[in-house]
Amino acid sequence: MKKTKPLFIVLSAPSGCGKSTLIDLLLQEYHDIVYSISCTTRAPRGDEEDGIDYHFLAKERFEELLAQNAFLEYAKVHDNYYGTLKAPIEEVLAEGSSMILDIDVQGAAKVRDYVRALPNNDPLKIGYVDIFVSPPSLEELRERLVRRGTDSAATIERRMSNAEGEIARAGEYMYRVTNDELDVCFKRLCDLIDALSGRM
Ligand code: 5GP
Repeated sequence: MKKTKPLFIVLSAPSGCGKSTLIDLLLQEYHDIVYSISCTTRAPRGDEEDGIDYHFLAKERFEELLAQNAFLEYAKVHDNYYGTLKAPIEEVLAEGSSMILDIDVQGAAKVRDYVRALPNNDPLKIGYVDIFVSPPSLEELRERLVRRGTDSAATIERRMSNAEGEIARAGEYMYRVTNDELDVCFKRLCDLIDALSGRM
């Protein structure tokens, strides 16, 4: 098989844009793309599993890792820490595979700053690509959130206002892909990844 360039893919999308579905499809299509599992100090919810949904850590352990500068980026949300470890990403890229990071616009900005400060020959910088998935329109996003039926009216309004703020920052990303139709959007993402990794 042809050797491809390992990518460090950062993907962001407002809630309701189909990001989780797109990531699932990408992981099925590309067996050499690894999903980055974040660390958190919050308790697992529902059927969430340690090492699959998150690495669930005690606050003391998270702070220990922080002191060791082990995180590429982190954030404190409602008294809980969330963060992305550097080591797994470095290891995956060193093996020749790619890593995909699912992160919001603020987290992505921190990753971008981190990568910008790396030397030009660092594999994370060489393979770096960030992609923003947008809804076709705000009206369509609202309709999707309503159709999904999982959120209260207040939650939908909060998601819509977050989405507007995130879409306003889509210009910070190297690539923007609209999720008008899932199949079409997925194909665009695959074409982009193939081109960037030299698969074509
Ligand atoms: P939840 O507790 O609902 O799983 O996530 C709460 C928030 O934490 C979400 O906005 C999610 O995007 C964010 N989050 C999850 N993992 C990370 C991470 O590794 N880094 C940062 N900065 N935020 C994260």
